[in-house]
Amino acid sequence: MFPSTDGLLVAAMTEPSRPALSVVAPCYNEQDALPEFLRRIGAALDAAGGVCEVVLVDDGSRDRTWEMMTQAAAADSRVVAVRLMRNHGHQLALTAGLSVCRGERILIIDADLQDPPELLAAMMTLMDQGADVVYGQRRQRDGESLFKRTTAAAFYRLIGRLTDVEIPADTGDFRLMNRRVLDLLLAMPERHRFIRGMVAWIGGRQVPLVYDRQARVAGESKYPLSKMIRFAADAITAFSVVPLMASMTIGWIMAAVGIGFFVYSIVGWLMGANLPGWTSIMAAIGLLGGMQFLMLGIIGAYLGRLYDQSKGRPLFMIRDIVGGPK
Ligand code: UDP
Ligand code: MG
Repeated sequence: MFPSTDGLLVAAMTEPSRPALSVVAPCYNEQDALPEFLRRIGAALDAAGGVCEVVLVDDGSRDRTWEMMTQAAAADSRVVAVRLMRNHGHQLALTAGLSVCRGERILIIDADLQDPPELLAAMMTLMDQGADVVYGQRRQRDGESLFKRTTAAAFYRLIGRLTDVEIPADTGDFRLMNRRVLDLLLAMPERHRFIRGMVAWIGGRQVPLVYDRQARVAGESKYPLSKMIRFAADAITAFSVVPLMASMTIGWIMAAVGIGFFVYSIVGWLMGANLPGWTSIMAAIGLLGGMQFLMLGIIGAYLGRLYDQSKGRPLFMIRDIVGGPK
């Protein structure tokens, strides 16, 4: 009936009461962590006061996670349990929760309590002071292997160098954001989602809150190396066309080298210095090879633009407009 953004606006205007705060937590096989999570997040919400909801997303768990979620929803009207059809992965499970939640402010948090819910109060204060996004920045990572820490550090340095968006280092998705930022995030239809990068891309006032990352309360990391690599590839390709652009640069270099070869072999032939047959082979290889690389580079440049276009991100995001006819 409405185009999607108008739909959001109309919903925002007509809906009777939005909760002041939504907590969104994706859960994959978190049966051991959930009870403690619900206890601590419940306490943090009690302390914050106001109307709030906790949106738990079951990302196709194979353990008792869903059963526990529905029990929690029955026991506490603040809890909303959402179950996906299958395992979609952390970022999509989170996106599902974000599209269901209705709060004016939204806290994204993992269900394993690596990010302390007690920081909510400090995040709310920073937002009261005008922040659009308050993101948790890790000072220390308890209980994470040396391997995880070094790969994570290398990843954030790499993405910092490759992308033109300022994606803060050592952050996860643990953050508080306001409805305006969330609506912009949800208006970005790209399929390979690197949510912390997308939020950084949106801009506005983004403020860090430094904290020490805890060890998991229970269970183990759901991010094996294979998922981490896929995640890193999603992140880099979503925010950087540097690899594609590299094909352009290499194309120019190879074209220059190829033409150099071509000229060199022709000159050698004119001077009678070449063995019979060498000139035609070298000239053909040089010219064709160089041109092929150049053409690949050109295709890369168009593909990069096509890719950017296909992400369908908003061209600009207006923060305020002041003045004009009353
Ligand atoms: N998670 C999910 N789907 C997945 C993998 C993870 O919903 O396919 C959830 C998981 O339950 C947790 C959060 O995403 O709440 C972060 O995952 P995890 O703690 O395993 O990652 P790590 O902290 O080790 O990077
Ligand atoms: Mg974790």
